[in-house]
Amino acid sequence: MNAPPVARRAVFLDRDGVLNEDLGYVGQPERFRIYPFVGEALGLLTRKGFLLFIVTNQSGIERGYFTLEDTHRLHTLLAEEVRSHGAKFTEIFIAPYKESTPNDVRKPSPKFVLEAARRHRLDLGASYVIGDRATDLEMGRRAGCRTVLLRTGAGEETERARNAVFDFVFGNLLDAARAIS
Ligand SMILES: [Mg+2]
Repeated sequence: MNAPPVARRAVFLDRDGVLNEDLGYVGQPERFRIYPFVGEALGLLTRKGFLLFIVTNQSGIERGYFTLEDTHRLHTLLAEEVRSHGAKFTEIFIAPYKESTPNDVRKPSPKFVLEAARRHRLDLGASYVIGDRATDLEMGRRAGCRTVLLRTGAGEETERARNAVFDFVFGNLLDAARAIS
């Protein structure tokens, strides 16, 4: 008899302002500045047993500032950077739409998170969403995940604005990776 499947835990990461500097509409490698602690942080989360996902809004694609291919290229660089730390992304979800374009995937929609949970049998109540903006945290709340605000990117602004609801706040991704379990 097979043992019942064990639900897995995941960390859903926002990209800009969490993994790399948020310079606005990041589509080219020259402007893709990965934070120096990202490899260590994601290696640590992997060893703690979390699957890693990215959920990112990239309206620059619909705006024509860069293409989906450009975006995949950045993510290849990112994957190479974290691989030496024993980390990999299970899936990367990209919403290429402007806020004004009707769609059901752009954050704060929880659609991608729910899709990942179904596909990979995740226990969302034991999973985390980590971001720097209120929309990241709202997506997490709507998906039933624990939510973490980081003070990198727009995070300090988000914290000051006091309209974001979150469970934890940390200085950066490495601080968060050390603390969560
Ligand atoms: Mg962000």
